[in-house]
Amino acid sequence: MPTLAVLVATDRTQRDRVNDFNWCSPGELVDIGSDCDRDRGSPDGACGCCRSFTGLDSRRATTTAEVVRRPMSFAEYVAAHHASLLRIGLPGDTARERGVEAARDMVRLAAAFPVGTVVERRGEQIVERLHVPHEEAAS
Ligand SMILES: [Zn+2]
Repeated sequence: MPTLAVLVATDRTQRDRVNDFNWCSPGELVDIGSDCDRDRGSPDGACGCCRSFTGLDSRRATTTAEVVRRPMSFAEYVAAHHASLLRIGLPGDTARERGVEAARDMVRLAAAFPVGTVVERRGEQIVERLHVPHEEAAS
């Protein structure tokens, strides 16, 4: 069985930032969701879209994701993205195209970190989550 390094929702390091949340199912595969106009790219905006990943099954959001190895092929990973995009109503062709793109981007991203790394999203940037002092997070 081939394995693939992917990003999944995790509770690890949740609450290190005061505006953390994780509404995903534990271990759920995640994608990088789209941003709304309200937060305008700000990772600490009220909505939270610019600091979150989206669960492929639940379509809910989390601020923390972890790199893990999953027993799945790249084709299966593409299929998971595709199905998720179909579920939110994208037309078939678009869902397929975006599913391939998303899977490619996410695999590349996951490969940039060692397995077990917790990552967070700060707007456009996906970075390793290091210890966040609470004073800093609260300001
Ligand atoms: Zn938003």
